[in-house]
Amino acid sequence: MIKKYYLLSPGPTPVPEDALSIASEPIIHHRTPEFSGIFMEVVEGLKYVFQTEQDVYVLTSSGTGAMQAAVNNILNPGDKVISLSGGKFGERWGQICRAYGIEVREIALEWGEPFTKEQLEEELKENPETKAVFTTLSETSSGTVYDIQAYGEVLASSEAVLVVDGISGLGATPCPVDEWKVDVMVAGSQKSFMIPPGLAYLSFSPKAWNLVEQSTLPKFYFDAKKYRKNLEKKTTPFTPAVSLIIQQKKSLDIIKSLGLEKLFEHHRILGDATRAGVKSIGLELLSKNPGNICTAIKVPEGIDGIQLVKTMQGKYMAYIAGGQDPYKGKIFRIAHLGYMGGFDVITALTALEMTLSELGYDFKQGGAIEAAETVLKENWE
Ligand SMILES: *Cc1c(COP(=O)(O)O)cnc(C)c1O
Repeated sequence: MIKKYYLLSPGPTPVPEDALSIASEPIIHHRTPEFSGIFMEVVEGLKYVFQTEQDVYVLTSSGTGAMQAAVNNILNPGDKVISLSGGKFGERWGQICRAYGIEVREIALEWGEPFTKEQLEEELKENPETKAVFTTLSETSSGTVYDIQAYGEVLASSEAVLVVDGISGLGATPCPVDEWKVDVMVAGSQKSFMIPPGLAYLSFSPKAWNLVEQSTLPKFYFDAKKYRKNLEKKTTPFTPAVSLIIQQKKSLDIIKSLGLEKLFEHHRILGDATRAGVKSIGLELLSKNPGNICTAIKVPEGIDGIQLVKTMQGKYMAYIAGGQDPYKGKIFRIAHLGYMGGFDVITALTALEMTLSELGYDFKQGGAIEAAETVLKENWE
């Protein structure tokens, strides 16, 4: 058989054909009115997705670059911060902060467990010197969405700023940056923004800018003030990834023409279909608060989780993701974000069913497909 490649991972994600083809076009110079025009359209489009009046800065790096920029632009050596760590990416905040000599109170949550408004209030009461709280909109390693709106409410009446990793969540699940009082928001190009890896996005609230003005941590390439100054001139401080930015304009056009509400609804339907599918064949989710970005599923008793992922990827070329760190071999993750459609869910579930039956799992074959189809049919418009 011809083996077709199906990218079903939570980043990188598939890129729409219109945006893909731009990568083969001749490079234009970045210090030109032509490029500046496109660049400013991208900035406006990003502000639309961020739902912010503030500027959004475009960094040439993967998402983690913008996470680092969030840390070293707002803090000073010895500052005290809280990091809500519910998985692999939540942990990264603590790692970056410690690399800069920040004193981190890391709250290690069980993967998939929520963290409430009251818990955060309690933490702040016990740690009144906290300068920033670092958290994640969608923890991709566990498929969990956190209550950013509640955290924003808590922090709005404190001195501390709220820093959110929205790298997989922003653009797939609601998180209006200004309305929910997110002070620093980080996003990345290869997840819900529907272009290849290589760009990261970053915004600061006025409250966060106050910290930027006082921050003494070392910085050069990711110095937010350089980006602010250059954006006034409709450009970036260093050579940007020209083709990626033009690709981003194309994908933002697709996002804008659908509209954010419809986009969130689309992800909700894919999430519902995936959850209905796996539950119908007796599988369990890892997360207590699953998001519509990526579904983390527990490997059933008696099944080799490493073999499951290996078979799906190697034999069926269905590139779902395995579990990371302590959950390696214990969970697997089916993504449904960015430029994925209803039948991508069906593809993932079909490959999953064929794999599970091969590995000896006892279930009614076709059950997951039927359940997912029912959700898609009811919601298709
Ligand atoms: C993918 C991801 C990251 C890491 O982004 P890179 O682009 O690999 O640097 C960070 N946080 C979350 C939530 C992610 O999904």
